[in-house]
Amino acid sequence: MKRILVTGGAGFLGSHLCERLIKEGNDVICLDNLFTGNKENVRHLMEHPRFEFVRHDVTQPFYAEADEIYHLACPASPPHYQRNPIQTSKTNVLGSMHMLGLAKRVGARVLLASTSEVYGDPLVHPQPENYRGNVNTTGIRSCYDEGKRMAETLFFDYHRQNGVDIRVIRIFNTYGPRMSQSDGRVVSNFIVQALKNENITIYGSGQQTRSFCYVDDLIEGMVRMMECVGFTGPLNLGNPKEFTMLELAEMIVRLTKSESKVIHLPLPEDDPVQRKPIIDLAKEKLGWKPLVDLEHGLYQTIDYFKTVMGSW
Ligand code: NAD
Ligand code: UDP
Repeated sequence: MKRILVTGGAGFLGSHLCERLIKEGNDVICLDNLFTGNKENVRHLMEHPRFEFVRHDVTQPFYAEADEIYHLACPASPPHYQRNPIQTSKTNVLGSMHMLGLAKRVGARVLLASTSEVYGDPLVHPQPENYRGNVNTTGIRSCYDEGKRMAETLFFDYHRQNGVDIRVIRIFNTYGPRMSQSDGRVVSNFIVQALKNENITIYGSGQQTRSFCYVDDLIEGMVRMMECVGFTGPLNLGNPKEFTMLELAEMIVRLTKSESKVIHLPLPEDDPVQRKPIIDLAKEKLGWKPLVDLEHGLYQTIDYFKTVMGSW
Protein backbone atom coordinates (compact mmCIF):
# COMPACT_ATOMS: atom_id res chain seq x y z
CA MET A 1 0.00 0.00 0.00
CA LYS A 2 1.30 3.46 -0.95
CA ARG A 3 0.26 6.85 0.47
CA ILE A 4 -0.70 8.89 -2.56
CA LEU A 5 -1.61 12.57 -2.79
CA VAL A 6 -3.78 13.57 -5.77
CA THR A 7 -4.11 17.34 -6.31
CA GLY A 8 -7.18 18.29 -8.34
CA GLY A 9 -8.62 14.96 -7.18
CA ALA A 10 -12.25 16.10 -7.28
CA GLY A 11 -12.00 17.11 -10.93
CA PHE A 12 -12.79 15.07 -14.02
CA LEU A 13 -9.48 13.20 -14.42
CA GLY A 14 -8.56 13.38 -10.73
CA SER A 15 -11.71 11.58 -9.59
CA HIS A 16 -11.10 8.68 -11.99
CA LEU A 17 -7.50 8.51 -10.81
CA CYS A 18 -8.51 8.47 -7.10
CA GLU A 19 -10.98 5.66 -7.83
CA ARG A 20 -8.31 3.62 -9.60
CA LEU A 21 -5.72 4.15 -6.84
CA ILE A 22 -8.19 3.20 -4.10
CA LYS A 23 -9.15 0.05 -6.05
CA GLU A 24 -5.47 -0.90 -6.16
CA GLY A 25 -5.31 -0.79 -2.34
CA ASN A 26 -3.59 2.56 -1.81
CA ASP A 27 -4.20 5.24 0.78
CA VAL A 28 -5.36 8.36 -1.09
CA ILE A 29 -5.49 12.02 -0.06
CA CYS A 30 -7.61 13.95 -2.55
CA LEU A 31 -6.76 17.64 -2.37
CA ASP A 32 -8.95 20.15 -4.20
CA ASN A 33 -10.23 23.73 -3.83
CA LEU A 34 -13.36 22.86 -5.87
CA PHE A 35 -12.73 25.67 -8.39
CA THR A 36 -13.92 23.44 -11.23
CA GLY A 37 -14.11 20.16 -9.34
CA ASN A 38 -17.09 18.82 -7.45
CA LYS A 39 -17.42 16.69 -4.33
CA GLU A 40 -20.06 14.67 -6.21
CA ASN A 41 -17.23 13.26 -8.35
CA VAL A 42 -15.75 11.54 -5.28
CA ARG A 43 -18.94 11.13 -3.21
CA HIS A 44 -18.77 7.33 -3.67
CA LEU A 45 -15.27 7.32 -2.14
CA MET A 46 -15.97 9.59 0.85
CA GLU A 47 -16.81 6.80 3.30
CA HIS A 48 -13.89 4.64 2.21
CA PRO A 49 -11.39 4.14 5.07
CA ARG A 50 -8.39 4.67 2.77
CA PHE A 51 -9.78 7.87 1.16
CA GLU A 52 -9.56 11.38 2.54
CA PHE A 53 -10.81 14.62 0.97
CA VAL A 54 -9.01 17.86 1.87
CA ARG A 55 -10.31 21.23 0.70
CA HIS A 56 -7.17 23.21 -0.01
CA ASP A 57 -5.74 25.59 -2.60
CA VAL A 58 -2.36 24.49 -3.98
CA THR A 59 -1.24 28.12 -4.21
CA GLN A 60 -0.80 27.73 -0.43
CA PRO A 61 1.80 25.30 1.01
CA PHE A 62 0.55 21.86 2.02
CA TYR A 63 2.24 19.24 4.17
CA ALA A 64 1.46 15.53 4.26
CA GLU A 65 3.39 12.29 4.20
CA ALA A 66 3.23 10.75 0.74
CA ASP A 67 5.09 8.22 -1.38
CA GLU A 68 3.68 9.59 -4.62
CA ILE A 69 2.08 12.87 -5.70
CA TYR A 70 -0.06 13.19 -8.80
CA HIS A 71 -0.23 16.93 -9.44
CA LEU A 72 -3.39 17.63 -11.47
CA ALA A 73 -4.75 20.76 -9.79
CA CYS A 74 -5.52 23.37 -12.47
CA PRO A 75 -8.69 24.21 -14.39
CA ALA A 76 -8.37 22.62 -17.83
CA SER A 77 -11.22 24.16 -19.80
CA PRO A 78 -10.52 27.47 -21.61
CA PRO A 79 -13.57 29.38 -20.26
CA HIS A 80 -12.70 28.30 -16.71
CA TYR A 81 -8.95 28.92 -16.80
CA GLN A 82 -9.68 32.31 -18.42
CA ARG A 83 -12.21 33.18 -15.68
CA ASN A 84 -9.39 34.14 -13.30
CA PRO A 85 -6.21 33.99 -15.38
CA ILE A 86 -3.93 35.31 -12.61
CA GLN A 87 -5.15 32.52 -10.34
CA THR A 88 -4.49 30.05 -13.19
CA SER A 89 -0.86 31.21 -13.46
CA LYS A 90 -0.50 31.08 -9.68
CA THR A 91 -1.98 27.58 -9.58
CA ASN A 92 0.50 26.39 -12.20
CA VAL A 93 3.58 28.12 -10.82
CA LEU A 94 3.07 28.34 -7.04
CA GLY A 95 1.11 25.08 -6.96
CA SER A 96 3.91 23.23 -8.76
CA MET A 97 6.55 24.78 -6.46
CA HIS A 98 4.61 23.68 -3.40
CA MET A 99 4.18 20.13 -4.65
CA LEU A 100 7.83 19.91 -5.70
CA GLY A 101 8.91 21.30 -2.32
CA LEU A 102 6.75 18.71 -0.61
CA ALA A 103 8.14 15.92 -2.82
CA LYS A 104 11.68 17.04 -2.01
CA ARG A 105 10.95 17.12 1.72
CA VAL A 106 9.24 13.73 2.00
CA GLY A 107 11.13 11.98 -0.83
CA ALA A 108 8.01 11.38 -2.92
CA ARG A 109 7.87 10.74 -6.65
CA VAL A 110 5.82 13.51 -8.26
CA LEU A 111 3.97 13.51 -11.59
CA LEU A 112 2.87 16.65 -13.43
CA ALA A 113 -0.28 16.58 -15.56
CA SER A 114 1.04 18.86 -18.29
CA THR A 115 -0.69 19.41 -21.58
CA SER A 116 -0.50 19.42 -25.36
CA GLU A 117 -1.07 23.18 -24.95
CA VAL A 118 2.68 23.50 -24.37
CA TYR A 119 2.88 23.06 -28.17
CA GLY A 120 0.56 26.07 -28.60
CA ASP A 121 -0.77 26.45 -32.16
CA PRO A 122 1.68 23.87 -33.50
CA LEU A 123 3.67 24.46 -36.69
CA VAL A 124 4.83 20.82 -36.62
CA HIS A 125 2.14 18.20 -37.16
CA PRO A 126 1.67 15.69 -35.57
CA GLN A 127 3.51 16.68 -32.40
CA PRO A 128 6.49 14.74 -31.01
CA GLU A 129 7.83 15.44 -27.51
CA ASN A 130 10.91 17.25 -28.84
CA TYR A 131 8.81 19.89 -30.66
CA ARG A 132 9.26 23.12 -28.69
CA GLY A 133 5.96 24.70 -29.56
CA ASN A 134 4.47 27.90 -30.93
CA VAL A 135 2.95 29.67 -27.94
CA ASN A 136 1.73 33.26 -27.50
CA THR A 137 3.08 34.73 -24.26
CA THR A 138 0.49 37.53 -24.04
CA GLY A 139 -2.80 36.03 -25.22
CA ILE A 140 -5.88 34.82 -23.40
CA ARG A 141 -4.62 31.20 -23.35
CA SER A 142 -1.16 32.16 -22.07
CA CYS A 143 -1.99 31.82 -18.36
CA TYR A 144 -2.60 28.13 -19.01
CA ASP A 145 -0.10 27.39 -21.79
CA GLU A 146 2.79 29.37 -20.33
CA GLY A 147 1.78 28.34 -16.82
CA LYS A 148 2.15 24.68 -17.77
CA ARG A 149 5.42 25.39 -19.58
CA MET A 150 6.77 27.05 -16.41
CA ALA A 151 5.49 24.11 -14.36
CA GLU A 152 7.48 21.76 -16.62
CA THR A 153 10.57 23.96 -16.18
CA LEU A 154 10.18 23.84 -12.39
CA PHE A 155 9.80 20.06 -12.47
CA PHE A 156 13.01 19.62 -14.46
CA ASP A 157 14.94 22.15 -12.34
CA TYR A 158 13.90 20.47 -9.06
CA HIS A 159 14.98 17.19 -10.65
CA ARG A 160 18.41 18.49 -11.74
CA GLN A 161 19.07 20.71 -8.73
CA ASN A 162 17.50 18.70 -5.89
CA GLY A 163 17.26 15.20 -7.30
CA VAL A 164 13.45 15.14 -7.05
CA ASP A 165 12.02 12.04 -8.73
CA ILE A 166 9.73 13.56 -11.39
CA ARG A 167 7.40 12.36 -14.12
CA VAL A 168 5.92 14.73 -16.73
CA ILE A 169 3.08 13.76 -19.03
CA ARG A 170 1.55 15.93 -21.75
CA ILE A 171 -2.12 15.10 -21.96
CA PHE A 172 -4.01 15.60 -25.24
CA ASN A 173 -7.78 16.31 -25.18
CA THR A 174 -9.37 13.71 -22.92
CA TYR A 175 -13.10 13.22 -22.39
CA GLY A 176 -15.49 10.92 -20.55
CA PRO A 177 -17.98 10.56 -17.70
CA ARG A 178 -17.72 13.15 -14.88
CA MET A 179 -16.92 16.05 -17.15
CA SER A 180 -19.03 18.86 -15.76
CA GLN A 181 -22.13 19.92 -17.74
CA SER A 182 -20.80 23.47 -17.57
CA ASP A 183 -17.20 22.49 -18.29
CA GLY A 184 -17.18 24.39 -21.60
CA ARG A 185 -14.93 21.98 -23.49
CA VAL A 186 -16.07 20.74 -26.83
CA VAL A 187 -17.16 17.15 -26.08
CA SER A 188 -19.30 18.03 -23.07
CA ASN A 189 -20.72 21.13 -24.77
CA PHE A 190 -21.79 19.19 -27.88
CA ILE A 191 -23.27 16.28 -25.90
CA VAL A 192 -25.28 18.53 -23.58
CA GLN A 193 -26.51 20.59 -26.54
CA ALA A 194 -27.43 17.46 -28.51
CA LEU A 195 -29.32 15.91 -25.59
CA LYS A 196 -31.29 19.13 -25.14
CA ASN A 197 -31.91 19.43 -28.91
CA GLU A 198 -30.26 22.84 -28.77
CA ASN A 199 -27.98 24.30 -31.44
CA ILE A 200 -24.50 22.76 -31.57
CA THR A 201 -22.05 25.66 -31.22
CA ILE A 202 -19.09 25.27 -33.55
CA TYR A 203 -16.47 27.95 -33.07
CA GLY A 204 -15.09 29.11 -36.42
CA SER A 205 -15.35 26.92 -39.51
CA GLY A 206 -15.20 23.64 -37.59
CA GLN A 207 -12.24 22.51 -39.72
CA GLN A 208 -9.84 22.76 -36.75
CA THR A 209 -8.80 19.35 -35.45
CA ARG A 210 -8.30 17.66 -32.09
CA SER A 211 -7.47 14.08 -31.08
CA PHE A 212 -9.75 12.73 -28.35
CA CYS A 213 -8.66 10.17 -25.76
CA TYR A 214 -11.11 8.29 -23.55
CA VAL A 215 -10.54 8.79 -19.82
CA ASP A 216 -9.88 5.09 -18.98
CA ASP A 217 -7.05 4.96 -21.53
CA LEU A 218 -5.54 8.16 -20.19
CA ILE A 219 -5.63 7.02 -16.54
CA GLU A 220 -3.96 3.74 -17.51
CA GLY A 221 -1.15 5.68 -19.20
CA MET A 222 -0.81 8.07 -16.27
CA VAL A 223 -0.47 5.27 -13.70
CA ARG A 224 2.00 3.37 -15.90
CA MET A 225 4.09 6.52 -16.22
CA MET A 226 4.17 6.99 -12.44
CA GLU A 227 5.35 3.38 -12.08
CA CYS A 228 7.90 3.57 -14.90
CA VAL A 229 11.45 3.36 -13.56
CA GLY A 230 14.21 5.73 -14.67
CA PHE A 231 12.19 7.83 -17.13
CA THR A 232 11.11 11.39 -16.41
CA GLY A 233 9.38 12.24 -19.69
CA PRO A 234 8.07 14.56 -20.98
CA LEU A 235 5.73 12.03 -22.53
CA ASN A 236 2.73 12.54 -24.82
CA LEU A 237 -0.44 10.70 -23.78
CA GLY A 238 -3.41 10.89 -26.12
CA ASN A 239 -5.26 9.21 -28.93
CA PRO A 240 -3.60 9.88 -32.29
CA LYS A 241 -6.86 9.62 -34.27
CA GLU A 242 -7.65 13.15 -35.45
CA PHE A 243 -11.10 14.65 -36.05
CA THR A 244 -12.42 18.03 -37.19
CA MET A 245 -14.94 19.69 -34.86
CA LEU A 246 -17.54 19.31 -37.64
CA GLU A 247 -16.94 15.55 -37.69
CA LEU A 248 -17.25 15.43 -33.91
CA ALA A 249 -20.54 17.37 -34.02
CA GLU A 250 -21.96 15.06 -36.70
CA MET A 251 -20.98 11.96 -34.73
CA ILE A 252 -22.55 13.23 -31.50
CA VAL A 253 -25.79 14.24 -33.28
CA ARG A 254 -25.96 10.75 -34.83
CA LEU A 255 -25.22 8.87 -31.59
CA THR A 256 -27.75 10.87 -29.58
CA LYS A 257 -30.35 10.80 -32.40
CA SER A 258 -30.65 14.52 -31.78
CA GLU A 259 -32.56 17.09 -33.80
CA SER A 260 -29.92 19.71 -33.09
CA LYS A 261 -28.52 21.85 -35.91
CA VAL A 262 -25.00 23.15 -36.16
CA ILE A 263 -24.41 26.89 -35.83
CA HIS A 264 -21.12 28.74 -36.19
CA LEU A 265 -19.85 31.20 -33.57
CA PRO A 266 -16.66 33.30 -33.64
CA LEU A 267 -13.43 31.40 -33.13
CA PRO A 268 -11.77 32.33 -29.80
CA GLU A 269 -8.38 34.06 -29.96
CA ASP A 270 -5.34 31.79 -30.41
CA ASP A 271 -7.48 28.67 -30.86
CA PRO A 272 -5.05 26.00 -32.18
CA VAL A 273 -5.75 24.90 -35.76
CA GLN A 274 -4.66 21.29 -35.35
CA ARG A 275 -3.54 18.86 -32.71
CA LYS A 276 -2.46 15.22 -32.83
CA PRO A 277 0.09 13.40 -30.68
CA ILE A 278 2.91 11.15 -31.74
CA ILE A 279 2.78 8.41 -29.08
CA ASP A 280 5.75 6.26 -30.12
CA LEU A 281 7.55 7.07 -26.87
CA ALA A 282 4.57 5.96 -24.75
CA LYS A 283 4.42 2.71 -26.73
CA GLU A 284 8.13 2.11 -26.25
CA LYS A 285 8.48 3.15 -22.59
CA LEU A 286 5.11 2.08 -21.16
CA GLY A 287 3.82 -0.46 -23.67
CA TRP A 288 0.78 1.84 -23.77
CA LYS A 289 -1.62 2.79 -26.49
CA PRO A 290 -5.27 3.89 -26.34
CA LEU A 291 -7.81 1.08 -26.76
CA VAL A 292 -11.17 2.91 -26.82
CA ASP A 293 -12.24 4.45 -30.12
CA LEU A 294 -14.14 7.73 -30.22
CA GLU A 295 -17.55 6.24 -30.96
CA HIS A 296 -17.41 3.81 -28.01
CA GLY A 297 -16.05 6.45 -25.68
CA LEU A 298 -18.78 8.87 -26.72
CA TYR A 299 -21.46 6.22 -26.01
CA GLN A 300 -20.21 5.92 -22.43
CA THR A 301 -20.04 9.67 -22.05
CA ILE A 302 -23.50 10.24 -23.53
CA ASP A 303 -24.91 7.62 -21.12
CA TYR A 304 -23.34 9.50 -18.23
CA PHE A 305 -24.79 12.83 -19.30
CA LYS A 306 -28.22 11.26 -19.82
CA THR A 307 -28.11 10.07 -16.22
CA VAL A 308 -26.95 13.35 -14.68
CA MET A 309 -29.27 15.47 -16.82
CA GLY A 310 -32.31 13.52 -15.69
CA SER A 311 -34.79 11.65 -17.83
CA TRP A 312 -34.19 11.63 -21.55
P1 NAD B 1 -10.87 19.72 -14.14
O1 NAD B 1 -11.06 21.19 -14.24
O2 NAD B 1 -12.06 18.83 -14.13
O3 NAD B 1 -10.01 19.36 -12.85
C1 NAD B 1 -9.08 20.22 -12.27
C2 NAD B 1 -9.23 20.13 -10.75
O4 NAD B 1 -8.26 20.97 -10.13
C3 NAD B 1 -10.61 20.61 -10.28
O5 NAD B 1 -11.14 19.69 -9.38
C4 NAD B 1 -10.31 21.94 -9.61
O6 NAD B 1 -11.23 22.29 -8.62
C5 NAD B 1 -8.90 21.70 -9.10
N1 NAD B 1 -8.15 22.95 -8.88
C6 NAD B 1 -8.01 23.99 -9.73
N2 NAD B 1 -7.24 24.93 -9.17
C7 NAD B 1 -6.88 24.46 -7.95
C8 NAD B 1 -6.10 24.98 -6.89
N3 NAD B 1 -5.52 26.20 -6.99
N4 NAD B 1 -5.95 24.25 -5.77
C9 NAD B 1 -6.53 23.04 -5.65
N5 NAD B 1 -7.29 22.49 -6.62
C10 NAD B 1 -7.45 23.19 -7.75
O7 NAD B 1 -9.89 19.33 -15.34
P2 NAD B 1 -9.32 17.91 -15.79
O8 NAD B 1 -9.70 17.71 -17.21
O9 NAD B 1 -9.64 16.86 -14.81
O10 NAD B 1 -7.75 18.21 -15.77
C11 NAD B 1 -6.91 17.73 -14.74
C12 NAD B 1 -5.47 18.09 -15.07
O11 NAD B 1 -5.09 17.50 -16.31
C13 NAD B 1 -5.24 19.60 -15.20
O12 NAD B 1 -3.98 19.92 -14.65
C14 NAD B 1 -5.19 19.80 -16.70
O13 NAD B 1 -4.39 20.90 -17.05
C15 NAD B 1 -4.59 18.49 -17.18
N6 NAD B 1 -4.99 18.22 -18.58
C16 NAD B 1 -6.25 17.76 -18.86
C17 NAD B 1 -6.61 17.56 -20.18
C18 NAD B 1 -7.96 17.03 -20.56
O14 NAD B 1 -8.24 16.94 -21.77
N7 NAD B 1 -8.83 16.63 -19.67
C19 NAD B 1 -5.70 17.83 -21.21
C20 NAD B 1 -4.45 18.33 -20.87
C21 NAD B 1 -4.09 18.49 -19.55
N1 UDP C 1 -15.15 24.29 -29.61
C1 UDP C 1 -16.29 24.44 -30.37
N2 UDP C 1 -17.48 24.57 -29.72
C2 UDP C 1 -17.60 24.51 -28.38
C3 UDP C 1 -16.43 24.35 -27.60
C4 UDP C 1 -15.22 24.25 -28.25
O1 UDP C 1 -16.24 24.46 -31.60
O2 UDP C 1 -18.74 24.62 -27.87
C5 UDP C 1 -13.87 24.14 -30.31
C6 UDP C 1 -12.75 25.06 -29.80
O3 UDP C 1 -12.80 26.30 -30.46
C7 UDP C 1 -11.52 24.25 -30.18
C8 UDP C 1 -11.99 22.79 -30.02
O4 UDP C 1 -13.41 22.83 -30.06
O5 UDP C 1 -11.16 24.47 -31.51
C9 UDP C 1 -11.54 22.15 -28.74
O6 UDP C 1 -11.89 23.01 -27.68
P1 UDP C 1 -11.75 22.64 -26.15
O7 UDP C 1 -12.12 23.85 -25.38
O8 UDP C 1 -12.48 21.38 -25.88
O9 UDP C 1 -10.20 22.29 -25.96
P2 UDP C 1 -8.82 22.95 -26.44
O10 UDP C 1 -9.08 24.10 -27.36
O11 UDP C 1 -8.18 23.39 -25.19
O12 UDP C 1 -8.14 21.84 -27.14
